[in-house]
Amino acid sequence: ILHSACETAVNGILIIDNEKKILLNNRRMEFIFDMPYEWEKMPDQARLNRLSEALVEPDELETLFVSLQARPAAVHTAEFHLPNRRILECLATPFYVEGQREGWMLTFRDATDSKLAERRLVELAATDPLTRVYNRSAFYSLAEIELGRSKRYKRDLAMILFDIDHFKQINDTFGHRAGDQMLETLADQCRANLRSSDIIGRYGGEEFIILLPETNLEKAEQIAERLRQVAEEIRIPNQRGEAKITLSLGVTRLVGGADIALDTLVSLADEAMYCAKQGGRNQVCRML
Ligand code: GH3
Ligand code: MG
Ligand code: MG
Repeated sequence: ILHSACETAVNGILIIDNEKKILLNNRRMEFIFDMPYEWEKMPDQARLNRLSEALVEPDELETLFVSLQARPAAVHTAEFHLPNRRILECLATPFYVEGQREGWMLTFRDATDSKLAERRLVELAATDPLTRVYNRSAFYSLAEIELGRSKRYKRDLAMILFDIDHFKQINDTFGHRAGDQMLETLADQCRANLRSSDIIGRYGGEEFIILLPETNLEKAEQIAERLRQVAEEIRIPNQRGEAKITLSLGVTRLVGGADIALDTLVSLADEAMYCAKQGGRNQVCRML
């Protein structure tokens, strides 16, 4: 009866005891993991190994087992990735016989569509709709992660903060629409001239902030100078003529994972940018 009940389940089911011996599984589980016909006849550890190997990251299953051992009474969830790009949601719940924990029931559900939709929503919420760079709060979250990494591995990291010079005049002269087009084009040009690992954020109206992992001061100043030149070349044609801009850029850096807070780093970049404005705009300044 138990077997038949499991076979009608729409989810994959795998029941293991405390020693990870397989007590029961349904066909659906074998189908989801694309297990060969012989799988059933293999010894337990080999069967689990074979399941691990069916994942893009073979460690994902072992990681779940480690957390089951660490917190045996808790309900655990995990996300498994299959080579066919499907995403499985795994729910692991302990089961008890006469008060004694006997093992866990793992269920596997294909959650690809909802996970992808979730990811798209997260992406949408994290980006600025006009320029498609990260919004301020997403930038801060990602920058914190990058800063943590740089401290752990003692890696260099640089930051550029820049502001468009006299941007109010662009709006006043060419209209707000031309101003928007300028911001879009500028963001595109930044993306085109940076690495995919660099994090670009819209810091304010016409201010952008960039975090450059694995980058020293010299390299960051070169990149800032390149952005300055690239921005100077942008033209937005309009009935009232051609809109063009210049940038004031501030650069700062963190050496070998030094213990600097993100806010401090941003303040230094901001001071450097202010210095570029004071120095006559259309230039790169540093602040260390
Ligand atoms: P400064 O060189 O000192 O930076 O001068 P500025 O005119 O750039 O500085 P200010 O801060 O006075 O003006 C910024 C302008 O940027 C005002 C605002 O209308 C414009 N701006 C901010 N966000 C947007 C936007 O999304 N679209 C457009 N078109 N304009 C924007
Ligand atoms: Mg500004
Ligand atoms: Mg400005």
